[in-house]
Amino acid sequence: MKEIENLKETILKDYPKLGKGSEFDFRCHKDVSCFNMCCSDVNIFLTPYDIVRLKNRLKMTSQGFLDRYTLLPIDESQNYPVVMLKMEDDEKKACPFVGSAGCTVYSDRPWACRMFPLGVASPKEDSQKGTSEFYFMIEEPVCKGYAEKKRWTVDQWVKDQGVEHYSEMGELFKEISLHDYFKEKKQLTPAKLEMFYTVCYNIDRFREFVFESTFLKRFDVDEETVAEIRKDDEELLKFGTNWLKFCLFGEKTMRVKSDVPTQRQAAVSTQAGQL
Ligand code: SF4
Ligand code: SF4
Repeated sequence: MKEIENLKETILKDYPKLGKGSEFDFRCHKDVSCFNMCCSDVNIFLTPYDIVRLKNRLKMTSQGFLDRYTLLPIDESQNYPVVMLKMEDDEKKACPFVGSAGCTVYSDRPWACRMFPLGVASPKEDSQKGTSEFYFMIEEPVCKGYAEKKRWTVDQWVKDQGVEHYSEMGELFKEISLHDYFKEKKQLTPAKLEMFYTVCYNIDRFREFVFESTFLKRFDVDEETVAEIRKDDEELLKFGTNWLKFCLFGEKTMRVKSDVPTQRQAAVSTQAGQL
């Protein structure tokens, strides 16, 4: 993780900053001599939406996916848990999804794979507002795609690779992971960290929490939302963002039911705050 932090510092300081209209040459195809080489021994952080797409693609539960395909790197400087794709335990450290014809989960590949050869960075203090977010070219010596004569603007690349919806869902995650709470150097309690992990990465368990506990007796959630989050992981992730704002940061994003006695309402809010 220290290496990644150092790389981020270098990117912020030294890499040319690209905007949506910036141009670059790149093409990846089966006949390049480096075909598939970028899909081994690589650090890929998975977003909550990446996990939803992949576990549904593989028809797995989120717990099954996390157990089989992810690592949870421990870094005390990190305010919240991050999840990485686990490379195979072989000599090449290949991605578990790479096959001889390329990516076997291509239409559901993670955000980072879609973006390559571009990355996105923003200085920490401005990152929530996205005011100084910029694109940059990733330096990958093995990749011959940079030498191919196919011109793109950043905007064209983002659209072509189907990044836009991933980025929209990524904005929800940023509302939590880049929250002012962390800028004030506050630490989440172990119970709050567990809730963060559950909502962001283990969506099926979060659904159990909502539907198999007293949650819906305590919180006022309209029927339409209940029906949507029961069957739709994307809607549940959006709902989970509001729940995390309430229970981690004390924002008024959830309504305690009015038929819960007033003293009890205060207790429900306090219990959530004490997680
Ligand atoms: S998910 Fe697909 S594109 Fe991404 S590293 Fe694995 S094989 Fe390559
Ligand atoms: S290294 Fe570059 S050109 Fe080669 S397969 Fe990967 S993305 Fe394509």
